[in-house]
Amino acid sequence: MISKHTIDLVFETARVEEVIGEFVQLKKSGSNFKGLSPFSDERTPSFMVSPAKQIWKDFSSGKGGNVLSFLMEHEHFSYPEAIRFLAKKYNIEIEETVESPEQQLQNNERESLFVVSEYANLYFQDILFNHPKGKAIGLSYFQERGYREDIIKKFQLGYCLDEWDAFTKDALSKGYELDYLDKTGLTIVKEDKQFDRFKGRVLFPIHSMSGRVLGFGGRTLSADKNIAKYVNSPESEIYHKSQILYGIFHAKKEIVKEDNCYLVEGYTDVISLHQAGIENVVASSGTALTPEQIRLIRRLTNNITVLFDGDSAGIKAAIRGVDLILEEGMNVRVLTFPDGDDPDSFSKKVSSEELKDYLQNNSKDFINYKVSLLLEDAKNDPVKKAALIRDIVNSIAKISDNIQREIYVQECAQLMHISEEVLFNELAQLHKKELKELHGASFPEKKSFKVLKAPSAEETQETFLQFLEREIIKLLLLHGNSKLDFIDWEDAHDERGRYQPKEVIHNNSVFEEIYLQLQADEIEFTHELFRSIYYEIINLFQQNGKIVSDALVNHAQFDISKEVTNILMEDEKHVIGNWAKRDILIKPKDDQNEVVKSVTDCILNLRRNLVNQKISELKNQFSENTNGNNNESLDLIMKYKGLEMLLSDKLGREV
Ligand code: ATP
Ligand code: MN
Repeated sequence: MISKHTIDLVFETARVEEVIGEFVQLKKSGSNFKGLSPFSDERTPSFMVSPAKQIWKDFSSGKGGNVLSFLMEHEHFSYPEAIRFLAKKYNIEIEETVESPEQQLQNNERESLFVVSEYANLYFQDILFNHPKGKAIGLSYFQERGYREDIIKKFQLGYCLDEWDAFTKDALSKGYELDYLDKTGLTIVKEDKQFDRFKGRVLFPIHSMSGRVLGFGGRTLSADKNIAKYVNSPESEIYHKSQILYGIFHAKKEIVKEDNCYLVEGYTDVISLHQAGIENVVASSGTALTPEQIRLIRRLTNNITVLFDGDSAGIKAAIRGVDLILEEGMNVRVLTFPDGDDPDSFSKKVSSEELKDYLQNNSKDFINYKVSLLLEDAKNDPVKKAALIRDIVNSIAKISDNIQREIYVQECAQLMHISEEVLFNELAQLHKKELKELHGASFPEKKSFKVLKAPSAEETQETFLQFLEREIIKLLLLHGNSKLDFIDWEDAHDERGRYQPKEVIHNNSVFEEIYLQLQADEIEFTHELFRSIYYEIINLFQQNGKIVSDALVNHAQFDISKEVTNILMEDEKHVIGNWAKRDILIKPKDDQNEVVKSVTDCILNLRRNLVNQKISELKNQFSENTNGNNNESLDLIMKYKGLEMLLSDKLGREV
């Protein structure tokens, strides 16, 4: 593990504008920098970097954060990878914390497996390009397949000589340990002898998202039907088949840019599409897609287009796997090729332009596609049709977006010539069943399935509450340290003894005011993230006597740092509008009264909400308690009602 000290040092040293400047052309604009968004194709700059706040925001994609999150978004580094990148750039020596012996052993072992794999990768490439047999057999195979040299180099393709242990011998002679050759599966170790797993095969190295070699796929060059066409590295400490997507390292930038990922079957499809200029493509390599693989793609985009081979038996098997993608909340389209062709073979029959056109114009929405495909079979068979409806509804139910689900129901009803109600009913039943499975048979059935309807009062209440909580965080971040005059009321009576609350003015910092007021009512934030940020702010205040927003922007908890950055950058958003026109920076002076008003307003609203909650709790008790004495709770309700009116009145006056 990288030590806290190193991480702190990296944060202190790294300048967001310098680091981003390596990837994006930045122009000074007032106290900020601006540039073209690296996350989308745009002509007018909406990407902004604030050296003062050490944060960035991309208004076209909504992304934003600190220097680290930029590297994670743009380069798709993991957290430690990003720290290492910065340490290298700023010549900071990385200090590793002391690990337990087991941890050390495990990390060392992983690291050793990486090192051996990287060595093998270089070795196989060297054989392909420089060994006479490598050139004559391996390289000429790729050339016959039509691969250009730049593509062979880009994908680091290689060849393993057709001798029993040529690679293993070489590796051992260079000092690599047999144990690691065994564990990566590069060498198959038998009692008395060792031999190369990939003997006589051309090799496709498989890279991680950040470009490290995890394993290999090897294709035989023999036509012998008894020999497996493809052999892959076995599972190891570094190679987990279910978590790997072939091509992700070479595709990641383009996936983000295109906001779409093509999913194909294998190595040759990925490479041929790259050669034709389509780079946002990955392969699941033979197996059905796993949730981990889908999540890997989801870090880059929400859209997947699955490319199917032409034969329809294969398609029917493959579409079952696609429901899984819907379940992960992604949008799925499908695209098929003419009978008998896969992306690899098709891309060789047409020009690069024709291929691009084909991909662009022939993808279909997955659910519609599934309906039309299966409807063929079921057309005149009511039993089959009923099964089909259930099947389709199963797919639709996986979609989490309400509106999208509604649209699908409408479309499918039309396609299948049935009424929407039938589909909605089926959906509702499925949902009930799932709830029951989730909560056991005792689960009450009163919650009906929500197929797009107006949000309930409770939901609106919840959004409003979260809005208020976010506003409070925003006020704390932007003005938490400002000392302002807040008005409060103290109980008092006039000379005739009538209740007449008296205005008093407290000169408090915005933080103190909010903290004291919320404390007094024991108000807790309902939204988990806002609650954590609020606690962090309290911590900071207690430690430093003021709020240091840097500490939050650079918070180790990613969602905190992200949300804080978003809030801080909203403040700058109007500035963007001006860029296009005049290139000048105007920031309206924050009106102190505005801030006081906003703080008071938020607190009063939260308080009113609390009171309303109390009232409805009491009402519930009241209606449940039909035979007992209700006078007491009625009394309380009336009191709270009075309070609520008072608060509403104050709000009315002050807003
Ligand atoms: P051919 O030249 O005969 O078309 P190919 O190398 O293109 O052979 P295909 O049989 O067309 O291979 O399969 C397409 C893709 O499916 C390959 O690129 C490969 O990645 C993948 N694939 C096929 N069989 C396997 C396997 N047994 N294990 C892993 N991947 C496989
Ligand atoms: Mn093929």
